[in-house]
Amino acid sequence: MGELQVGEPEWDIVIVGGGPAGLTAGLYAARDAMKTLLVERMVSGGQVATTEWVENYPGFPEGISGIELSQRMEEQAKKFGLQVIQGDVQTLGLSDGRPRTFSVLTSEGAHLARAVILAMGADWNRLGVPGEEEFRGRGVSYCATCDGPFFRDQEVVVVGGGDTAVEEGTYLTKMASRVTLIHRRDRLRASPIVQQRALANPKMQFVWNSVVEAIEGGPKGVERVRIKELPSGHTWEKPCSGVFIFVGMVPNTGFLKGLVEMDQRGYVLTDDEMRTSLPGVFACGDARRKLLRQVVTACGDGATAARAAARYVEELRGTAYD
Ligand SMILES: Cc1cc2nc3c(=O)[nH]c(=O)nc-3n(C[C@H](O)[C@H](O)[C@H](O)COP(=O)(O)OP(=O)(O)OC[C@H]3O[C@@H](n4cnc5c(N)ncnc54)[C@H](O)[C@@H]3O)c2cc1C
Repeated sequence: MGELQVGEPEWDIVIVGGGPAGLTAGLYAARDAMKTLLVERMVSGGQVATTEWVENYPGFPEGISGIELSQRMEEQAKKFGLQVIQGDVQTLGLSDGRPRTFSVLTSEGAHLARAVILAMGADWNRLGVPGEEEFRGRGVSYCATCDGPFFRDQEVVVVGGGDTAVEEGTYLTKMASRVTLIHRRDRLRASPIVQQRALANPKMQFVWNSVVEAIEGGPKGVERVRIKELPSGHTWEKPCSGVFIFVGMVPNTGFLKGLVEMDQRGYVLTDDEMRTSLPGVFACGDARRKLLRQVVTACGDGATAARAAARYVEELRGTAYD
């Protein structure tokens, strides 16, 4: 818990994180006449801003570039009065007063609010091999739902052996001509039912005791991976046009330890109104425990979190209408 701060808060709601969840929360909160500040440590858009092309967000039948979608979301929220500033949120402080005041502490200072919406998203672990950054968005992906359809009737490789890798690999067999799963051990870590389904799938192939050493290609994107067998060190090449990497995802929730309830992996637990275990603090998007981490679900969460936070603030003021 951060340093205790007291005083009349400048903001009704402070949102931490400016991805789709935070920006949608900002749009709804500002449009709900809440004085709302969004604090983003980099540029608005979150993971979407790094996505080449989004073709499963409703309303854009031809698809839309990730950057354009992010910019439009920010523009729309600002139009209704959302204030956006840059800052890396380091912790939350909480006053003892009634009503409570939250202090959102960044490296540049503190912002006081009646309610806080957490929307910090999550980051995919990288493999850290040559070619991974170079071909990101041109064959290297961390999301089968997002990018699988780009690899219809093509060969793809999946890296990892846990539930996500095996489930996403199985999902990819609906589109790809063949899915080769490369795992550093001699058996999968995924749950038995998920494994059985994958092992029985004729379009799935398994390469055991092996790691991807490099991802290689040309101007059009990925063409092959170089695989190293363990422990012999023998290397060989596997042609493919896509490499899906599922070696873990880390929610950006480190600073919340001891403040709100989280699961073992650090995802924030909420109810279906996005309330966390701490009254006045709400969470939305990829940072919370949920089934599907996508733009559309992040936006849905953001809208719900904003309404729930606004209602919380209205209740404090005695002006709630539902
Ligand atoms: C390569 C890739 C392609 C994808 N393609 C698609 C697709 O085609 N369709 C689809 O629906 N989904 C896609 N996704 C998933 C989608 O982008 C995410 O589900 C969505 O962005 C989650 O939104 P969010 O707002 O919860 O989190 P994020 O987008 O992760 O945004 C969180 C924001 O919070 C900021 N932040 C974190 N910590 C702090 C802090 N301490 N202080 C201040 N700011 C902080 C981050 O900088 C970031 O901007 C893709 C993801 C990736 C990585």
